[in-house]
Amino acid sequence: MATVTVSEDLASSLQERVQGVVIHPGHPDYESARALYNAMIDKRPRAIARCVDAGDVIACVRFARETGIDVAIRGGGHNGPGLGSVDDGLVIDLQAMRGVIVDPGAKTARVLGGSLAGDVDHATHAFGLAAPFGIIATTGVGGLTLGGGLGNLTRKLGLSIDNLLALDVVLADGSFVRASEDENEDLFWALRGGGGNFGVVTAFTFRLSPLATVVAGPTLWPLERAEEILLPEELWLKKVCGVLWCWAGSEEDADEAFRPVRELRPELDGIMPMPFPVLNAAFDGLYPPGDQWYWRADFFDRISDAAVEAHVEFAHRLPTPKSTMHLYPVDGAASRVGPDDTAWAYRDAKWGQVMVGVDPDPAKADELKEWTVAYWEALHPHSMGGAYVNMMMEEGDERIRATYRGNYERLAEIKRKYDPDNLFHVNQNIAPA
Ligand SMILES: Cc1cc2nc3c(=O)[nH]c(=O)nc-3n(C[C@H](O)[C@H](O)[C@H](O)COP(=O)(O)OP(=O)(O)OC[C@H]3O[C@@H](n4cnc5c(N)ncnc54)[C@H](O)[C@@H]3O)c2cc1C
Repeated sequence: MATVTVSEDLASSLQERVQGVVIHPGHPDYESARALYNAMIDKRPRAIARCVDAGDVIACVRFARETGIDVAIRGGGHNGPGLGSVDDGLVIDLQAMRGVIVDPGAKTARVLGGSLAGDVDHATHAFGLAAPFGIIATTGVGGLTLGGGLGNLTRKLGLSIDNLLALDVVLADGSFVRASEDENEDLFWALRGGGGNFGVVTAFTFRLSPLATVVAGPTLWPLERAEEILLPEELWLKKVCGVLWCWAGSEEDADEAFRPVRELRPELDGIMPMPFPVLNAAFDGLYPPGDQWYWRADFFDRISDAAVEAHVEFAHRLPTPKSTMHLYPVDGAASRVGPDDTAWAYRDAKWGQVMVGVDPDPAKADELKEWTVAYWEALHPHSMGGAYVNMMMEEGDERIRATYRGNYERLAEIKRKYDPDNLFHVNQNIAPA
């Protein structure tokens, strides 16, 4: 009871300064407000501030400085290790800050910091425009973009960060700045891959590209054919290997582009023209919030025969129907940006690989972890050494350094300039130099 009282006092004193609601453990919405996408993570913050504007965010940052309370920044809440929340701390929750304003003439979109990828797809599609995000529409633009942003359009348009023009940021001292090619360039560099280490982004400005329809969809093969290369009823709940395609070129050229794929006689060919937002939301139903998730990742520049053997072995040991392994291509437009042009260091990778154990049943948590870790350990020796920061659990400082490679020291210097006391440390943390 004492904790609740302390939390209530803290929450009510913060509530005097912010317009959005501040939720504490005694609040009727506390359980739903603290729930994260990954139900394996169970955190109990002292207060969750549902910010409605940059003014609220500034008030929260100042409050955290004054009280010394730990701070987490929550965008879409999709983070694997649950870094959008913090035990016994304050969550700066941006869920109420969702909104997208498209400028069709300039081909740009201004996106509020708590928006979801699907919000941007919806708003931009009406104008025949798009920006690249991930493969699930309910993921937060905030966390996904600040970590890089791999997805269906990586080859065509690059990472999400490669389409960023500017960010509005509340810094650790409570000041508000803009970061772009012309303003606070060092911060702009660091925010493009460095995650939530440098401030709270209250708005993103993205460049948009003309794209309305894609020729896209899955092709699936039985697992037995994995060495060689998801559903009609005969494949339901069977283990399969598959490719999810996204042809962002002209529809006329699509048949020719897919000819080599069809020569491999997939058992399911679901490729068809579709509005781009349909592709991005195609798997939202399969992976709703509230499942148990455990994932591990690495970058690869080639997939060796030994790696394929290990993939097949672990596919046969798949612990649950929702568990999977994904290989995200990193080449094309994403590879035409230099390794130190942004904080995102693996421009020479060909694949971002993630193996993920998923199931609705909390009793399966250990099994999911064991399979994922054993699978990762078998593949890691074949990798380039580091992983995509958005697809890691909390794996320690060495793994974070491996993510940023040669860019780590510069990131640590920029962290020292903008957040010398490491106020924003609930993240894949880059300690100030
Ligand atoms: C089902 C699923 C599918 C996914 N698919 C993809 C994919 O296709 N491509 C891909 O690249 N990633 C993908 N991811 C990974 C995703 O990018 C990360 O989980 C990311 O952290 C989610 O961002 P969020 O805002 O939803 O998370 P949150 O948990 O809300 O936040 C995660 C972290 O991001 C930071 N953060 C979030 N918003 C802000 C902000 N406005 N300002 C400052 N910091 C902020 C904070 O440091 C926070 O700790 C997927 C994740 C899931 C669960």
